[in-house]
Amino acid sequence: MLLGVGFGLAATIFGWQGFTADYITPFGTIFINLLKLMAVPLILVSLINGISNLKDVSKLSRIGGKTLGIYIFTTVVAICIGLLLANAIQPGNYLSAEKKEVFQNKFSNTVDEKTSVAKLNADRKPLQFLIDIVPQNVFQSFTDNTKMLQVIFFAMLLGVSLVLIDSKTAQPVKDFFVGLDAVVLKIIDLIMSAAPFGVFALLAGLIADFAGDNPRDALELLKALGIYSLTVLLGLAIVGFIFYPILLNVFVKISFKRFFDAMAPAQLLAFSTSSSAATLPVTMERVEHHLGVSKEVSSFVLPLGATINMDGTALYQAVATLFIAQTMGMDLNFSAQLTIILTSVLASIGSAAVPGAGMVMLVIVLESVGIDPAGIALIFGVDRILDMCRTTINVTSDAVCAVIIAKSEGQLTV
Ligand code: ASP
Repeated sequence: MLLGVGFGLAATIFGWQGFTADYITPFGTIFINLLKLMAVPLILVSLINGISNLKDVSKLSRIGGKTLGIYIFTTVVAICIGLLLANAIQPGNYLSAEKKEVFQNKFSNTVDEKTSVAKLNADRKPLQFLIDIVPQNVFQSFTDNTKMLQVIFFAMLLGVSLVLIDSKTAQPVKDFFVGLDAVVLKIIDLIMSAAPFGVFALLAGLIADFAGDNPRDALELLKALGIYSLTVLLGLAIVGFIFYPILLNVFVKISFKRFFDAMAPAQLLAFSTSSSAATLPVTMERVEHHLGVSKEVSSFVLPLGATINMDGTALYQAVATLFIAQTMGMDLNFSAQLTIILTSVLASIGSAAVPGAGMVMLVIVLESVGIDPAGIALIFGVDRILDMCRTTINVTSDAVCAVIIAKSEGQLTV
């Protein structure tokens, strides 16, 4: 990231913009393409897997219902906090009007497309977003990255049906998706191993391109990115230090200090690995042995939470979407922001618990409100550090919910 910024500034000063655009930027584009390439397979496979494993829900239906309810509740609250902050702080508006126009032109492919999207948004009926979720032909949805919600809808139907049919018949299909899930995650792993190069190329290209021959302009972009990052961090801090303590206080009567002391090792691991999945073994150990949650509750609630409960990721997706929209000079109205709440819940559920997954799924949220996903290029450079912080919140949230559920089930030994 730093090398990319350095290179971009150097390019501005020494006049290498042409070289950067021809030989550096393409690698950034390839990296974005790779991420977009995996979006449909990732959602399809991870959701089908997640839902078809919910077999336990029928056994543990009460705990299962509570778990899903509290997971969705905390995620929606986190998104609303993110939206409120992004609307209040307006991080994208720290760019000058001229630069916004440059971005708008750069990221919206053609003027025609722009106007038709704007017109489409204006004509939308309140429940149009529900109609849009249900595809007429799922193969059409698979071929269009703007139809992610339709893919999610289909994946949910398939997953639920897998649970409902006879388990012997379902097993081979489930096994197939378990295998495919491992393959998809491996591909993402391979792509993410190229992330440093992708981030370098994107930032170098972005800075050189943005600044033209004026380094001052580059600093303007960095300032806007800094404020965007601070907005995400402030949101995460409010969730972590205000919202969770309130929940713990109201439902469990456990002091936040005690909770924090018990969870600190898991939080540190989440911060350094940026992966809820990698942190899961430690999360379980801390929650069971240091917070006194029974194994029955923790072994159900925590793995499910690591996969679907991502408050930090959802908050980040909401703020990032507003930030990108603001830098492009787009005004997102109330109904667009409702769509963001819905899609961020789904996108965070669909995000795999691995580094950078939340950013891949951000594509869905952006496209659901008509923003060109290439706008992700803007926030790429700071994503890793935000990923570390949002993963910490994701893991904390799983533990908070586990404690609350254990308490309500009388399975918390303090
Ligand atoms: N890295 C996050 C996690 O594992 C997901 C994300 O990219 O937001 O929880």
